[in-house]
Amino acid sequence: MVPLPVALPNPSRTHYKRLSVVLTKTIPDAVIAELKSIVGEGGWLDSSADLTAYLEEWRGLFTGCTPLLLRPASTAEVAAILSCCNANNVAVVPQGGNTGLAGGAIPGLNDQNEVLLSLERMRDIRAIDTANFTIIVEAGCVLERLQQAAADADCLFPLSMASEGSCQIGGNVSTNAGGTAVLRYGNTRDLVLGLEVVLPDGRVLDELKGVRKDNTGYDLKQLFIGAEGSLGVITAVTCKLFPKPASVATALIALDSISAVVDFFAAARTALGDEILAFETFPHIAMDMVQQHIDSCHSPFDDEYSWYVLLDLSSQRSQSMVDTGLLAFLEAQLDLGLVTDGVVAQSGAQRDAFWRIRHAISEAQKLAGASIKHDISVPVSQIPLLIEKASAVAESIAPGVRPVPFGHVGDGNIHFNLSQPEAMSAKDFLALWGVMNQRIHSLAVSLGGSFSAEHGIGLLKRDELARLADPVGLALMRSVKLAFDPNGIMNPNKLL
Ligand SMILES: Cc1cc2nc3c(=O)[nH]c(=O)nc-3n(C[C@H](O)[C@H](O)[C@H](O)COP(=O)(O)OP(=O)(O)OC[C@H]3O[C@@H](n4cnc5c(N)ncnc54)[C@H](O)[C@@H]3O)c2cc1C
Repeated sequence: MVPLPVALPNPSRTHYKRLSVVLTKTIPDAVIAELKSIVGEGGWLDSSADLTAYLEEWRGLFTGCTPLLLRPASTAEVAAILSCCNANNVAVVPQGGNTGLAGGAIPGLNDQNEVLLSLERMRDIRAIDTANFTIIVEAGCVLERLQQAAADADCLFPLSMASEGSCQIGGNVSTNAGGTAVLRYGNTRDLVLGLEVVLPDGRVLDELKGVRKDNTGYDLKQLFIGAEGSLGVITAVTCKLFPKPASVATALIALDSISAVVDFFAAARTALGDEILAFETFPHIAMDMVQQHIDSCHSPFDDEYSWYVLLDLSSQRSQSMVDTGLLAFLEAQLDLGLVTDGVVAQSGAQRDAFWRIRHAISEAQKLAGASIKHDISVPVSQIPLLIEKASAVAESIAPGVRPVPFGHVGDGNIHFNLSQPEAMSAKDFLALWGVMNQRIHSLAVSLGGSFSAEHGIGLLKRDELARLADPVGLALMRSVKLAFDPNGIMNPNKLL
């Protein structure tokens, strides 16, 4: 096949909704002055021109406000800030790269003033231990830089997602981010060995040790992973590293149905084992939208198919062994009739071109009209039933709706996104967002799944957590919050 261009799309912002903000509580001038003095010149911003970029959520769903942005440069400064805020009952919203999709890092969305605490100046790589396969980094280190630091030491840090040029490891840990390599390496939780956290009262919990065995009571760091800034501020992380793969191989495969995709996944796991790095799927409509709206994305196939799978392998074996094994496996699946067609990338450029189609789906869908989104997961075996039932639910709420279900099928995680019916206005369609979410979230939960697979709760899904979580689990979460943050200063009204 012909090599295709490589650049990833730059998704544009869409404005769906703004919350009206009524501030009822102000922060005393003396407290603002004390906070500024803790971080010193260059450590704070308070003009609206400087703050704009920090106050807008990536999709434009939320726009916040704050009287003060703090940019501490050390753990000691974070500790002094939290101690001061706790003593004066001032709420704090931590922010990493502000790429979260649930409104968690945006301040001032409640009825009070909140200071915004950005980790962007705390980005040092503190230590790397190639014998122990660990790296200690400050929370504000951008994910791409962490990946590069690992690569420079001839290792791999496998967390990867389209936002990696902006999101920070502290944000990744706080959202327990997933990404494209979960199948092989797990979620962020699986990549964390230790944390340094400043508690709401200013004490520092030092759990940075880089050991893989440590049975000394409660594993407290786990509570901060996925806590979305509600229990404290993560200031540093000990991450696991892995050997750099010796070879990679990528194929784009065409199939007749979503059931065939799931059967093909089981066959691939059996034959290729843990060499599978990613197993992503998308339907015909997604390929259509991408080709129609994104100039440099082209299907490598002459024909059109119902479903596509992007299969990525990485291995310590030689390139020729991996290529030969992959080709033999795909040919066997073609003979069995499970797979309809397929192409294997012959170069890095072709590999990138396949991934580019996958990464362009959200952007293409934006350009194809309004969309209502769901980030849901079910056991992989339930995916065909989920898509069938969720499509029927969506059709009953918005006749003519166009489902575009795609995503990390190997993890059971489908972004069940819906494009507006051609005969309905964007405004009328988006007015159905709440009812659509409720019905489809309930369906995912009824199939043994989750209504929030990898993007966190934040403000966006807070009421859905209250509606759908196990009441005992929710009560325990509230007890944990109270134990760690009795004054409720950490990211109030998000998550819980
Ligand atoms: C184009 C694009 C693609 C994406 N792809 C994926 C994907 O494949 N998988 C996935 O899981 N997510 C994905 N995301 C979502 C997002 O990138 C992740 O959730 C990421 O982990 C957020 O990191 P951040 O540094 O931007 O955090 P932010 O958005 O700044 O913050 C997220 C939450 O964490 C809290 N927080 C941030 N830093 C700290 C800290 N140091 N201590 C305590 N709390 C903190 C904030 O208060 C907030 O509640 C994507 C987003 C975009 C825009």
